[in-house]
Amino acid sequence: MEQLWHFIDGKRVAGTSGRFADVYNPATGEVQAQVPLANAAEMDAAVAGAKAAQPAWAATNPQRRARVLMEFVRLLHRDMDKLAEALSREHGKTIPDAKGDVIRGLEVAEFCIGAPHLLKGEYTDGAGPGIDIYSMKQPVGIAAGITPFNFPAMIPMWKFCPAIVCGNAFILKPSERDPSVPLMLAELMQEAGLPDGILQVVNGDKESVDAILDHEDISGVGFVGSTPIAAYIYERGCANGKRVQCFGGAKNHMIIMPDADLDQAADALIGAGYGAAGERCMAISVAVPVGDETADRLIEKLIPKVEALKVGPYTAGDDVDYGPLVTGDAERRVRGLIDRGVEEGAKLVVDGRDFKLQGYEEGFYVGPCLFDNVTTDMDIYTQEIFGPVLSTVRAQTYEEALGYAMDHEYGNGTAIFTRDGDAARDFANRVNVGMVGINVPIPVPLAYHTFGGWKKSAFGDLNQHGPDAFRFYTKTKTVTSRWPSGIKDGAEFSIPVMK
Ligand code: NAD
Repeated sequence: MEQLWHFIDGKRVAGTSGRFADVYNPATGEVQAQVPLANAAEMDAAVAGAKAAQPAWAATNPQRRARVLMEFVRLLHRDMDKLAEALSREHGKTIPDAKGDVIRGLEVAEFCIGAPHLLKGEYTDGAGPGIDIYSMKQPVGIAAGITPFNFPAMIPMWKFCPAIVCGNAFILKPSERDPSVPLMLAELMQEAGLPDGILQVVNGDKESVDAILDHEDISGVGFVGSTPIAAYIYERGCANGKRVQCFGGAKNHMIIMPDADLDQAADALIGAGYGAAGERCMAISVAVPVGDETADRLIEKLIPKVEALKVGPYTAGDDVDYGPLVTGDAERRVRGLIDRGVEEGAKLVVDGRDFKLQGYEEGFYVGPCLFDNVTTDMDIYTQEIFGPVLSTVRAQTYEEALGYAMDHEYGNGTAIFTRDGDAARDFANRVNVGMVGINVPIPVPLAYHTFGGWKKSAFGDLNQHGPDAFRFYTKTKTVTSRWPSGIKDGAEFSIPVMK
């Protein structure tokens, strides 16, 4: 059995807590490795190493820091196949999807190469006689990231690339369910020239997370995961005086107007609802057709497409649309919710519960499910399922459909499919959701924009990546300087105002 490690001060370090978690191969159901779960003493050691290394890194000019990321991008391309295979083996997603996971992180590394420009402060020349004002963006010091299982390459990179290029040291606590790719990324950063101690990967669970939240040398914490944990981390981190941003769960609605191209909408729902087995925070999990005629036609188009979805292991290559869920626990949870939907009276028009794959009977697979006539009081509507399950809630009018997206407690992403620019514009303006697609089902902003939800999908200020990340990982210092020319005026006793 392979035993994984932490990556501290540029070296692989064995766990000393005596606690481990199993890491599965979800395609076969086998345990393939064990990951050590750090205790507070191991976290202390990682933070001490980061604290020793950070001042010299902060003093390295931003262009040199950016060059590390330039080389990192090259190495990511070099090792793309290796990274994707390791990612699929622990997560279960297909190889093309795993490559997408790496690439959406790589794009943030590319954006961060602009650090010398992005870190420039503001300057006012001659704000008063002999007076100039300028601002500097200085690193927060040591930042930490706690990341989820569903994007084990992308989300760690969303966190550590901007944090590090801003001159911080970074403690990454990846998901214990798929820790190998984060460990590989840290070694690639080292190969790219990052000094030891600047990126520490500490594996663990709640115990190591609590050690982060209570550590007085950690100034900023970024979290991505489920909403109850996001709320907990936000509260405890803020109570300890840290700057904290936490991104939580989702229930993304896609509204299909009567004038939409229904073939296009159905294809969009298939990709956005079932891709990565629905284990995406930007997956569409609720389809809201407007009018019964639209709903009937949409369901008619969806049924054969859902039934034709190919489910299997990542090793089957192009023959697979999506793979297993990440763990047996996740599979049981999703199956439990599907059963609950049936009990509650929703109509299961495609039932994937009996799906079995010969030779992979122990894998964590769930066949695709499609519900019609879902109502807003049902558990399958109120809860995030995070599985290959699409629910249809029928609306009679546009206002009713908009109301569903507005009233749900989550507000991560949403989409509208229509040919009517007026409806699309009204929707984008009024909906209280952070990321909106117009004829685009998964509107994940590119690296130079920012990513973040509203309502219970995010806690704290500022989004991830884009210019917001540079704000989150730096503190602003504003300097007012005066260089009197000629005769000095003597002391001033009233509060200074510009003359
Ligand atoms: P999770 O909340 O179970 O775990 C996320 C992280 O928190 C992991 O590192 C885990 O070790 C840690 N953790 C778990 N329980 C903890 C506890 N009790 N105390 C402290 N730390 C704890 O989430 P997950 O299952 O890994 O990821 C799926 C969730 O993440 C979904 O809800 C999904 O919507 C969400 N997600 C959100 C975004 C976003 O940007 N909004 C992006 C991706 C995933």
